[in-house]
Amino acid sequence: VTSPLGSVPDAIIVGGGVIGLSAAWLAARAGMRVSVVDPAPGRGAAWVAAGMLAPAGEAAYGEEALTRLHLAAAARWPSFAADLEEAAQDQVCYRACGTVAVAIDASDRTALEDVLEFKRSLGLRADPLSASECRRLVPALAPGIRGGAVFPDDHQVDNRRLVTALIEACRRSGVEMVSEEASALRRTPTGGVDGVELRDHRFLPAGAVVLAMGWRTRTIGGVPPEVLPPVRPVKGHILRLRGDPAEPLLERTVRALVHGRSCYLVPRLDGSLVVGATVEERGSDERLQAGAVHALLDDARQAVPGLDELELEECATGLRPGSPDNAPFVGWTSLERLAVATGHYRNGVLLAPVTADGVVALLAGADVAPVLAPFSPDRCL
Ligand SMILES: Cc1cc2nc3c(=O)[nH]c(=O)nc-3n(C[C@H](O)[C@H](O)[C@H](O)COP(=O)(O)OP(=O)(O)OC[C@H]3O[C@@H](n4cnc5c(N)ncnc54)[C@H](O)[C@@H]3O)c2cc1C
Repeated sequence: VTSPLGSVPDAIIVGGGVIGLSAAWLAARAGMRVSVVDPAPGRGAAWVAAGMLAPAGEAAYGEEALTRLHLAAAARWPSFAADLEEAAQDQVCYRACGTVAVAIDASDRTALEDVLEFKRSLGLRADPLSASECRRLVPALAPGIRGGAVFPDDHQVDNRRLVTALIEACRRSGVEMVSEEASALRRTPTGGVDGVELRDHRFLPAGAVVLAMGWRTRTIGGVPPEVLPPVRPVKGHILRLRGDPAEPLLERTVRALVHGRSCYLVPRLDGSLVVGATVEERGSDERLQAGAVHALLDDARQAVPGLDELELEECATGLRPGSPDNAPFVGWTSLERLAVATGHYRNGVLLAPVTADGVVALLAGADVAPVLAPFSPDRCL
């Protein structure tokens, strides 16, 4: 069994989702020889995602270190997007449009006011708005909304254009794309890892292996599962609607609290509108369910009634790589030359650039940036 690559790459990245592709591209840019193993690169959770880059919207109680990482990630995005567009000769539609959060009823408004205080205490920009101020910023909002807030630093990128550009940037920078499923890691007599076995029985040797298989990261064979951090699938339903790009319904992202439930509406420059998303613990069930689609549409149209006029183009589900504390795992495992980059849960698109920087640092024998250091893979083992 031989490597189709001719010689041994510095690293094989298993999983070409937004995390693996970003890491592969930046590692190749840093001069490393890299391969990505994935039968369907870019078609995991990153394909169905909404592409919000939302440090303020996603800040949650008890997750202060994660919020600092989200902020660092948001700050990294403009240069990452510009470099990627240059490398791929393609657009990713990074859009610094900000986000308006709105409350539908009085208890939604109270809930929103409570979290605003918390978000501001973390240094996030989250400014309260009256109902009429919300409607001035977003004329399409329902007349009955009870108030809201603006998150001026919560932006977006077109996640599909992003992964498409990442694949092209990888290609142009010499990353070897191996279109096959990885089945197992091969162990060395000293307990490390020296390569990847593929489903078609080929073996690819590597200087190091990085597992970036999203929610499936723990399914790789050849290593005891307890060596790998606990990731699980967290299902999300999401919708894509189409309107007229010349007369966009929304100019910025809207997050809505609707009788205690959350939804968001993310407008794209091409006239499409992404409406998401449910958060469901249903194992690896990816079935599209009528009730979830109905609930999402119903909530979204209570915030933005003009939605009714748009064409419903796509209903989809995806599986986020969830972790016990909602934070990613990026670092070396206890097995020599085996690293992981997974568990990015609801924010893998936002976190892709800082995670990729971290993976490049690890492969170069350096430490990850201090802001990423709390997220080592052994913290939940
Ligand atoms: C509905 C929904 C909305 C979301 N919205 C946002 C958002 O607005 N903003 C945001 O930042 N994040 C969002 N996310 C989260 C984001 O999509 C994920 O955190 C991110 O995609 C994780 O990236 P990943 O590369 O780890 O996994 P994935 O994107 O799932 O990629 C994993 C890859 O690994 C490959 N793979 C798996 N097993 C193997 C194997 N054995 N061999 C080879 N390859 C394998 C798969 O084919 C896949 O390509 C959303 C997710 C969902 C589901």
